[in-house]
Amino acid sequence: MTGASHTRSQQLFAEALEYIPGGVNSPVRAFRGVGGEPFFVNRARGSRVYDVDGNEYIDYVCTWGPAILGHAHPAIINAVKEAAEAGTSFGIPNPLEVKMARLIRSAVPSVDKVRMCNSGTEATMSAIRLARGFTRRDKIIKFDGCYHGHVDSLLVKAGSGALTFGNPDSAGVPAAFTQHTVVLPFNDPDALKAGFGANSDRVAGVIVEPVPGNAGVYLPEPGYLEFLREITRSHGALLIFDEVMTGFRLAPGGAQERFGITPDLTCFGKIIGGGLPVGAFGGRAEIMDCLAPLGPVYQAGTLSGNPLAMAAGIAALEELLPGKAYDRLEQLGAQLEAGMKTAAQQARVPIQFNRIGSMFCAYFTERPVHNLADAMTSDRARFARFFHGMLAEGVYFAPSQFEAGFISTAHTAEDIERTVRAAAGVLKSQIQ
Ligand SMILES: *Cc1c(COP(=O)(O)O)cnc(C)c1O
Repeated sequence: MTGASHTRSQQLFAEALEYIPGGVNSPVRAFRGVGGEPFFVNRARGSRVYDVDGNEYIDYVCTWGPAILGHAHPAIINAVKEAAEAGTSFGIPNPLEVKMARLIRSAVPSVDKVRMCNSGTEATMSAIRLARGFTRRDKIIKFDGCYHGHVDSLLVKAGSGALTFGNPDSAGVPAAFTQHTVVLPFNDPDALKAGFGANSDRVAGVIVEPVPGNAGVYLPEPGYLEFLREITRSHGALLIFDEVMTGFRLAPGGAQERFGITPDLTCFGKIIGGGLPVGAFGGRAEIMDCLAPLGPVYQAGTLSGNPLAMAAGIAALEELLPGKAYDRLEQLGAQLEAGMKTAAQQARVPIQFNRIGSMFCAYFTERPVHNLADAMTSDRARFARFFHGMLAEGVYFAPSQFEAGFISTAHTAEDIERTVRAAAGVLKSQIQ
């Protein structure tokens, strides 16, 4: 792959820069985290993406999570074709919405009722509105390093004094919009106790990625999610699991099945759309029934429950729900983890390879990574060299240190083997 042509991609990016801010429709795609320019893709199948210059890559981004069955899965393609023939949007209830809701409820026991929307961002935005409406309280606790989409009041990271007032993470978010957002470090029960202490009876809910996957990947420490469940319940606050990434990724019932925790509300997206734009949020009937038209919490969407998105998502879930896929994903994940750890060891490169099932992240640091502060110790220049080295070998990891990698059921043991072999070479030659 070294020396491969990227002429068409370069031309397209130059043109894109003329018409699209930064040349991209979502910032991480611009390769700012690793330097260089993005490649353009016009075709993908199974574990592979193909760029417009005809280069082939083993893909561990999997369209940032949704492609758990690999790209262009025939069951999804056929479902979308069939649905499109019948009309692309009705704005009137359609049977596929009912089927989707039934599938989600059957897989995720904490969900009695579910409302579909069009993105993960909409799901988290609506879930916190619902939590506030249901509890009649204003404060939301979130954790630094957790990403919940680009919702104004959730675009906040930790800063000193964050126990009471959050600092906006983006220009254009008035401080007033984040004054009810409390930001705490993840995996820190004492911080949570203090957060509730400082805001007693005013916390509507705690929103959390049960396995944070937007600052790389790190796991909840044993007992932490249980503690979170207990402290929210004892303060009358709702526990909101943002499973936009982990839902149907870690198990049919997501992280909550894997860790045995019952949240009050859950947000979904990514996998449940089968590659089409989708989000959803669901939970106990008593809470969900506060939504319009039954209750006072307004939430709506012109394209919500869109038949193409429902058809694609249903096809994906029907492939996943028998559950066998997860054994295979675990095997492939374990193979990648073992291979990468060995490759790093042999090259004498310090690495923390964090993994759960088919979600992973390689941090280049001596320090075990349990939260954002640990993740920040990773050598990002080293990551950038690793990323470009792997790309030249035909392996595409996410173009940022702070993203999760994903394996799909379309990946093979040979794909993983090739990846590990490439990594061994890249780590040795470029990093030592
Ligand atoms: C991707 C993601 C979102 C945002 O979803 P969009 O569809 O990009 O709006 C929210 N929460 C988590 C945990 C995510 O991984």
